[in-house]
Amino acid sequence: MTVRAAPSPEEIRKRNLAALLRHVHRDGAASRATLAERMGLNRSTILALTADLAAAGLVREELPGQTGKAGRPSLVVRAESERVYVVALDVGADRLAAARVGLGGLVLDQIETARPMGTFDPEDVISALASMARGMIGKAADAVCVGVGVAFCGMVREEDGVVRYGPNIGWVDVPFGASLTRELDLGLRVAVGNNANLGALAERERGVGVGLSDLIYLHGDVGIGGGIIMGGQLLGGEGGYAGEVGHMIVNRDGRPCACGSRGCLEAEAGELGLIAAAGRTDRAGRAAVEAIVEAAARGDATARDALHNVGDWLGYGVANLVNIFNPSMVVFGGVLRDIYLASAAQVRSRVAVDGLQAVRERVRLRTSTLGGDATLIGAAELAFADVLTDPLQTLARISAGLE
Ligand SMILES: [Zn+2]
Repeated sequence: MTVRAAPSPEEIRKRNLAALLRHVHRDGAASRATLAERMGLNRSTILALTADLAAAGLVREELPGQTGKAGRPSLVVRAESERVYVVALDVGADRLAAARVGLGGLVLDQIETARPMGTFDPEDVISALASMARGMIGKAADAVCVGVGVAFCGMVREEDGVVRYGPNIGWVDVPFGASLTRELDLGLRVAVGNNANLGALAERERGVGVGLSDLIYLHGDVGIGGGIIMGGQLLGGEGGYAGEVGHMIVNRDGRPCACGSRGCLEAEAGELGLIAAAGRTDRAGRAAVEAIVEAAARGDATARDALHNVGDWLGYGVANLVNIFNPSMVVFGGVLRDIYLASAAQVRSRVAVDGLQAVRERVRLRTSTLGGDATLIGAAELAFADVLTDPLQTLARISAGLE
């Protein structure tokens, strides 16, 4: 039997500060009374914690909006969204995006650049991201940046941000996180995660899956990534690379995939599969998917057949996932949102035929409510991790680094 020492008062205070900040960050402004109830602490403890966080500039107390109730309204504790922020970056196969996201999850500023598909030179990507980030940081001179997070469209080793494999942009073992940390030189480690994993967390924290503990998020750009949350935890596997559902083989005689295999879900049901099936190889990316969806809606037979086919393959993939994981929800994000909306009947009928009754009867198929921003919001949450774990120490470390 291990006897563990009771946590010191200092340790308890640190945990409570972090817990209070997480409440305000995730659920929005709340009165001290509400926070006391949610956290199971007495009001004088909440008062002291709020005072510490306010002194550090992380929260402020203010009058709530008009409630319509008579009497003196009680003050609410609100995150200092304009003052404390993170930089979130997103590397997709055909776009780079950046956002400044304030504490509390408020998107303050956002930019995006489309890129031609194909191989990306890591140095080009790093300098483009760094210049997007610097531009945003430069506009926020009075605020403090507490983290940088990146969503990446491939397999990432989270502890050091090495991209092990990014098939759609041609990267193998690129020390991406370390290089971007050096290039930005903010005194902050750049955290990197897989885009679909981060999208799954974002949908669970702030999107269509709030509060669910068993959810699968499927993200489509050129490829298809999967983020699988089971029992409230992201499924990582031995190396943290679990959830590569895009390379689940659904068609033995199928189309070649960027990974070297054939008939992978992303080759059949992703953007490229749809574009090829519709014979629209003159365009690429989201614009091509939108054009096909519009053509089908106007009655174009080729576009309709292509969506029908792709929906069928997507349905096989979803049926497999539902049978294996028994999620309560499957969320379609990125371009898969458009593809799913235009082929939902096929996807649902595949799941009805191939899903086992006990698991398919309760699963909900939904589109992302964060839309194209799910991965970026997930990257922001990754960047907030330190300040939400130890708020005062993290701020002290950052301001020491800036002096
Ligand atoms: Zn593949």
